[in-house]
Amino acid sequence: MTLPKGPDTTLRQASLDPTDWSELRAQGHRMLDDMFDYLQQIRARPVWQPIPAELRARFREPLPRATTDLAAAHAIFMRDILPFAVGNAHPGFFGWVHGGGTAVGMLAEMLAAGLNANLGGRDQIPIAVEQQLVQWVRELFGFPDSASGLFVTGTSLANFIGVLVARTAALGVEVRQAGVAASAKRLTAYASAAAHGCVAQAMDLAGFGRDSLRIIATNHRHEIDLAALERAILSDRAAGQTPFLVVGTAGSVDIGAIDPLAALADLAQRHRLWLHIDGAYGALGMLSPAIARRLAGIQRADSIAFDFHKWGQVPYDAGFILVRDGALHRATFAAPAAYLRRDARGMAAGSAWPCDYGPDLSRGFRALKTWFTLKVYGAERLANMIEHTCALAQYLQQRVEASEALELMAPVALNVVCFRYRSADADRVNAEIAADVQCSGISAPSTTFIGGRLALRAAIVNHRTRASDIDDLIQATLRFGRARAAQHGETP
Ligand SMILES: *Cc1c(COP(=O)(O)O)cnc(C)c1O
Repeated sequence: MTLPKGPDTTLRQASLDPTDWSELRAQGHRMLDDMFDYLQQIRARPVWQPIPAELRARFREPLPRATTDLAAAHAIFMRDILPFAVGNAHPGFFGWVHGGGTAVGMLAEMLAAGLNANLGGRDQIPIAVEQQLVQWVRELFGFPDSASGLFVTGTSLANFIGVLVARTAALGVEVRQAGVAASAKRLTAYASAAAHGCVAQAMDLAGFGRDSLRIIATNHRHEIDLAALERAILSDRAAGQTPFLVVGTAGSVDIGAIDPLAALADLAQRHRLWLHIDGAYGALGMLSPAIARRLAGIQRADSIAFDFHKWGQVPYDAGFILVRDGALHRATFAAPAAYLRRDARGMAAGSAWPCDYGPDLSRGFRALKTWFTLKVYGAERLANMIEHTCALAQYLQQRVEASEALELMAPVALNVVCFRYRSADADRVNAEIAADVQCSGISAPSTTFIGGRLALRAAIVNHRTRASDIDDLIQATLRFGRARAAQHGETP
């Protein structure tokens, strides 16, 4: 009897591996060297540059049917992609809150991609690495061993998970089946006016609606007004609502303000509310003993959301959610499924898989680049880096205060400085300055509104930033400010 021929004899090039590994190896080393060059020489590049229309058009081609040489594709990357990124790896990047990344993180991403591990579950050491990170995070925030943690894309998703676990705490696991509408309780949550927009979005996604989030006024330091918060809770309760959640901010997106976390924890305890902290970038200040003192109270939270990709410098993306009550966290997401059955032995062994703690089933190995970052640099060196960005913010504040042409717009709590060029038409002039500075390639501040007035905003997050980069930002602001003011007929 002859066996039928296998399909291998008829299909050429089914595998996507190269036929010539030595050629791929040489090309791969060139790609690696190009990225080392990029990081080593980044200071000499513009932070950002406007994108020519014809370049944009190159990324509107039809689906490629045939093959392209890897070297040719890489050449396109070097010419058309690499120079036109947003520039957050650059020491002159001060926009929004973006981490700078590191070469170590980049290399770890390569290792993770080569391994191509799927961290949804199953019995594998990559999950032990993620659990190691969970343990380190518990230690950092003084959480018990029963606390759970999970890598997610970013704090937007981590805040959403925090709201969902708080929802389980308030309505029981039945809410997963019946939905929020089935409950007679009308739940309300609280956050300050300085809270990030994704908190309201989380309320929306969780089925409560944005109106269920009460926006509480802030004090002159942009911290939540505790008296106003308490009044809102009492008035909602009197009106038959059920307050269930308060979201505190550790490092507000606008100015880096830290809500009074210990007082917030007291208040949450008194009113039996779930305390969730959005510590997107600020929470990692816990690495520094000096900043940790200012975050006191965070260790009493029920859940904390933060990013390793901001102050932690881990390459995008690496968000994290930490929940004190690990069992409740699991009860919020775990669901039986035949194809995800657990066994005592073999690859399906080990209970409590990461997919039991969040909405993702397939998940990348974000833990590896984070493990490498903490392992290679160590907590102390990362703390020094974080403290240095705060020292640079103090320096920028001093430079602003020393200039008659500039005005400080908000207190500097951590590493964010809001300021502007003085002008009769300041909103317009400063919007122009922001765009002028960005287009010059010298620096990249962003803008925000402080008390209805437009401000230039410099968030110093990048570990590569030095005092000379702050000087460049000041100089460029003054230069473009003078030019714009003159253009509008103002005399200096
Ligand atoms: C950046 C930020 C977020 C959103 O985090 P992502 O990682 O971008 O999803 C939420 N809150 C604050 C305070 C932030 O700074």
